[in-house]
Amino acid sequence: MTATLVTGIGELVTNDPKRGEGSLLGIERDAAVVVDGDRVAWVGAASDAPDADERLDVEGRCVVPGFVDSHTHLVFAGERSAEFAVRMAGESYTGGGIATTVAATRAASDEQLRQNARRLLAEMVASGTTTVEIKSGYGLTVDDEARILRIAREFTAETTFLGAHVVPPEYEDAREDYVELVTGSMLEACAPHARWVDVFCDAGAFDEGEARRVLQAGMEAGLLPRLHGNQLAEGPGVRLGVEVGAASVDHCTHLTDRDVEALAGSDVVATLLPGADFSTRAPYADARRLIDAGVPVALATDCNPGSSFVTSMGWCIALAVRELGMTPAEALYAATAGGARALRRDDIGSIVDGASADLVVLDAPNHVHLAYRPGAPLVRAVWRRGSLVYRHESV
Ligand SMILES: [Zn+2]
Repeated sequence: MTATLVTGIGELVTNDPKRGEGSLLGIERDAAVVVDGDRVAWVGAASDAPDADERLDVEGRCVVPGFVDSHTHLVFAGERSAEFAVRMAGESYTGGGIATTVAATRAASDEQLRQNARRLLAEMVASGTTTVEIKSGYGLTVDDEARILRIAREFTAETTFLGAHVVPPEYEDAREDYVELVTGSMLEACAPHARWVDVFCDAGAFDEGEARRVLQAGMEAGLLPRLHGNQLAEGPGVRLGVEVGAASVDHCTHLTDRDVEALAGSDVVATLLPGADFSTRAPYADARRLIDAGVPVALATDCNPGSSFVTSMGWCIALAVRELGMTPAEALYAATAGGARALRRDDIGSIVDGASADLVVLDAPNHVHLAYRPGAPLVRAVWRRGSLVYRHESV
């Protein structure tokens, strides 16, 4: 295995609480990192760095951990820009458009789905994402949900069964039969390809009782629970997530004080998806309130063609700073270590000895530029598990 010394790092964000004098990001200045194989083998001051087979000087730039995008719906077909335009002209989001994507996805070939996911993943990698979670939920038949998860597994180990995304049109008058299907033969076909089980527990989606059944059935099949909740209205999502020990409740836009207290007293991460609030012209989640209450927070894109056709975690960080009340440091932490926690992973989201070598070189002197220069293509290079997977070619 070849060891590479990455040196000349002006600001290194480690997310290591033992570094950086107690600051959230564990910042080291004038630092270096040794990447050996797929792991980080050494972190410290550039002046103390050991020898390595190869050496790369990043000339004073900032290096941050690869982003962990813990919530996406990447396997789908079609796009819904017309629906977006209508919404921006004043109509509200109901989740009803999901059926449009379900029809397009069912009609697409495996290769079309694979190519679309690959194209979006390339955008994600070029913007610094090194771990991505992918949900099913646009098939809603036994065969289509299983094939979406099989395709998702080609790209990531973090796959999530979301047969309970919405009730498909053909079950409109038979919801109970659909919940039976999701918790029965659909789960059986999907569980071998999934790590997680998810449910959309919200106004107009699945109610508390239905959502509990879906999560419990998934857990009995060996999957770990997470859920979509409190996006469209206050409701039982957070309460249910805490009850079943979910890794994360995602959205958390509409929360009562009791919800915030329940999250603070639990191990559940609140995953905030500012791209969805942006794209549905909804109020933004209040990250400040959650962080001040001691709730662990993650940021993710929610990439999907209806409510958040967003692939850039950097843009989510900028939104989170401007609209959710986070500091630049809190937003970057949530997009890296927060996402790792939301996936119950301790090998990603930080740059420490033994961690997966997921590093992003920014063309910036420090991490604040992620929010300070929104939309600028700051990512110069990306290593994923020790391999250089993206390099920005300057003209
Ligand atoms: Zn989602």
